[in-house]
Amino acid sequence: MDFKRIGVLTSGGDAPGMNAAIRSVVRTGIHYGLEVFGIKYGYEGLLKGVMIKMDARSVANIIQRGGSILGTSRTPEFKTKEGRKKGYEILKKNNIDVLVVIGGEGSFAGARELEIEHKVKIVCIPGTIDNDISGTDYTIGFDTAVNTAIDAVDKIRDTAMSLERVFLIEVMGRNSGFIAAEVGLACGAESILVPESGCDSKNLVEIIRESEKKGKKCSIIVVAEGDESGGAFRVAEILKKELNLDPRVTVLGHIQRGGSPTARDRILASRLGYEAVNGILHGQTGAMVGIINGKIVFTPILESCNKKKSLDLNLLKIAEILAK
Ligand code: ADP
Repeated sequence: MDFKRIGVLTSGGDAPGMNAAIRSVVRTGIHYGLEVFGIKYGYEGLLKGVMIKMDARSVANIIQRGGSILGTSRTPEFKTKEGRKKGYEILKKNNIDVLVVIGGEGSFAGARELEIEHKVKIVCIPGTIDNDISGTDYTIGFDTAVNTAIDAVDKIRDTAMSLERVFLIEVMGRNSGFIAAEVGLACGAESILVPESGCDSKNLVEIIRESEKKGKKCSIIVVAEGDESGGAFRVAEILKKELNLDPRVTVLGHIQRGGSPTARDRILASRLGYEAVNGILHGQTGAMVGIINGKIVFTPILESCNKKKSLDLNLLKIAEILAK
């Protein structure tokens, strides 16, 4: 083993389960005789050299907590060559041999640049509620976000049944519809609009007409924030115009990011943190660690941030059939 000190940071959008991943990296590292430094506020803290030596107790009582104890940030300076050079020099000055980056696509793009330009050894761990990362079936935080949204949609359905109205519920997911598809299927939504499906408003108008004919008293439509139709408010405008309806819109927003991680997310984070450190010990750097079909897989960082992960559109079809 030609290194002994690793750094860990969380970057970009926070996700429930990031703390469980930090805990796992720290304790696995210490177990194998490494020194672990927690870098605060993602790349921003790296550029400022804000880091603390972690011990087993410093990650006590965090497995069940949402957010990130290290903090996270969006740091434009890291998108510049000069910024990354500064980051590299700070890592070198602090004798940090390997960096563990917990984050999403953007954070991985930064990690990849740092690796190419300065040969920094990096292992990435997918932590984002959006689940839009190739090289893993699930990302840390996705399961919690889906469950939080389901809880909210169930409540909205209670009032939708009483009011006999159409409700549009916008969920997060950036440019992808993973959250929308799973939430829609799990909540018995009448329709799910995601960027991947190209589900046009004409189809939606037809679905609502059909629902009314069948005697349905309310309709729940789940809309992904990145949907081409422009989000739930835009869809509401279309329904007003085409069907003379006055749908209610709820944008679930940041509640989907917070809260205590589910068992699935805690287990995923604990496994990925452990495997990331194991990967480091076996020379598996320049990669993201994920789980595909139950197996640990290391994917080159470039592939994990460049390759578009495809959504199983069958989920939408099933939801539509089951909502009949
Ligand atoms: P996420 O990791 O959740 O996708 P962002 O897209 O906001 O979040 O990215 C987090 C941070 O990663 C950015 O603030 C920036 O510092 C860095 N980053 C994002 N894209 C790049 C890039 N193309 N090159 C270098 N750094 C990047």
